[in-house]
Amino acid sequence: MKQTLHYRVYPFDPAGHRLKVQLEIPSPSRRCQIVSLPAWIPGSYLIRDFSRHIESIRAWCGKTVMTPQKINTNQWAIDGCTGPLTIEMVIYAWDLSVREAHVDESHAFFNGTSVFLMAEGLQHLPCTVQIQAPPHTTKWKAYTSMPVAPEQGSKGTVNSIGSYIAPNYDALIDHPFELGTPAVITFKAFGALHEMVFTGVAPGLDLARIARDTKRICEAQMALFEPAKKEAPFVDSASKYVFMTLVTKDGYGGLEHRASTALVTSRKDLPVKAHQETPAGYTQFLGLVSHEYFHTWHVKRIKPAAFVPYDLLVPNHTRLLWVFEGFTSYYDDLMLLRSGVIDLPAYLKLLGKTIASVYAGGGRLKQSLAHSSFDAWTKYYKQDENAPNAIVSYYTKGALVALGLDLTIRLATVNRRSLDDVMRLLWQRFGKRFYGGRARGLGETELAALIKQATGVDVSLELTQWVQGVADVPLADLLARSGVELSWVSDTDTPDLGFTTKTSGPDLMVRQVFEHGPGHIAGLSAGDQLVAVNGLKVGGSEATLSALLRPYQAEQVIDLHVFRGDLLKVYRLRLAPPKNNTCHLIPMHS
Ligand code: ZN
Repeated sequence: MKQTLHYRVYPFDPAGHRLKVQLEIPSPSRRCQIVSLPAWIPGSYLIRDFSRHIESIRAWCGKTVMTPQKINTNQWAIDGCTGPLTIEMVIYAWDLSVREAHVDESHAFFNGTSVFLMAEGLQHLPCTVQIQAPPHTTKWKAYTSMPVAPEQGSKGTVNSIGSYIAPNYDALIDHPFELGTPAVITFKAFGALHEMVFTGVAPGLDLARIARDTKRICEAQMALFEPAKKEAPFVDSASKYVFMTLVTKDGYGGLEHRASTALVTSRKDLPVKAHQETPAGYTQFLGLVSHEYFHTWHVKRIKPAAFVPYDLLVPNHTRLLWVFEGFTSYYDDLMLLRSGVIDLPAYLKLLGKTIASVYAGGGRLKQSLAHSSFDAWTKYYKQDENAPNAIVSYYTKGALVALGLDLTIRLATVNRRSLDDVMRLLWQRFGKRFYGGRARGLGETELAALIKQATGVDVSLELTQWVQGVADVPLADLLARSGVELSWVSDTDTPDLGFTTKTSGPDLMVRQVFEHGPGHIAGLSAGDQLVAVNGLKVGGSEATLSALLRPYQAEQVIDLHVFRGDLLKVYRLRLAPPKNNTCHLIPMHS
């Protein structure tokens, strides 16, 4: 008989941000059972070594105390136990992001990668999870997309607030949990149940409006991938989809899972019932919702071959992140337009911003999208002040390549085919196979042939230039042939210094210096504290610096006094014309 692994999570010390997590293995590997905690979480390509938050680890074989031997940063070995083997950890959980775990008196949020040990050699076994209420309240409920256990046995269910099942370890760590008393609203999209869970909100949040807009986005995406059946992507692994959102002062971020997503958003970006006008950041929140939901198909089920299966102890390299994050970034805003939650002018404004952000840095002419994807672990996720000069984002340039491919396909087929056809073929060929665990990932060099098959258009030359090489996507030309005019203007009349700044306490510091710009040529460096422009004191804000530069024009030379460390230095800088940093997209009238 197939054994089942049992996990139990107990937020026993919310004030100290501590969780107790138990794993019981009925029949461990007798000679030596190795257990490990992931070093990274799928969707966020950085080695995080979650085991650093383990305060203590203990084990029992039956009732006999065992000593887990640490054999690696994230691995332990327990010898000579015939079972049952129980391992208990105390984990410190105080990370306010979507990637780890966070516990206090008001709530608990955790990802399985932060709390569930993997029993090596037994990853294929089904698992149960029992969640225990914290000691200080009986009001908490558990929210997750992990399926509820069919029968709640009597054994060990004291103070239980939920029991769940997962078919294997891969599923176990792909359903994060939110525990507490959040604001909750549900809706159905083409008949499929969706739940929105908001933690940290003040009263008055306009939940009904958020649910209404989100439903439209979900239905637009279901209609894209499954135009006939309108089937939800998560039916293989859960009975509902859960959006779990942590609302903070100024947070932003999201992480995709197979039937849920964890989001962090800023309080000011969400609509409230008392005010009719829409917050400026609400479109960005809906864009995040759209992005993470799109991943339910594209990266959670359609995957790079390099992720099938994940190796959670070491970096997993692929040259295809631009396909998975770039296409998703292209479709996230496009789905806002197609679902009708924004109009065409608003969409073209968002697209213009994406174009401008790619062109802001010269790194796009040095690093290819294939390399940006491969080196995500050490470059995109470890950006320093030189990033704009050295790297390109596989999100934003990936989105421009998606747009370039979409326009190329539409122009070549007189709009009879589009990137939508490519997404549907990817889904049929790779995504649906995820159902039932027969997953095969997209090979590193498979895309061009797949696009040809889906659309009849050969884009191999474009992929070679835009993805393997560092060529810009010729968007002005492609858009013009599609009826949209692209133009560049400057949003300022202040001459350009060639660097960005940031406020640090009362001071204004150089943040990033653009290669070959006036600041670089003059000798300025990131971290320099700006003191004076031609003898006049620079205040602590960008506005005061701009005010000082207003009397000057391009080609004039100024003296800039800065502190580098505690050394006062003066640099002579030749001002450049204001940068054309804003991209306008206007439909042409025929
Ligand atoms: Zn993403």
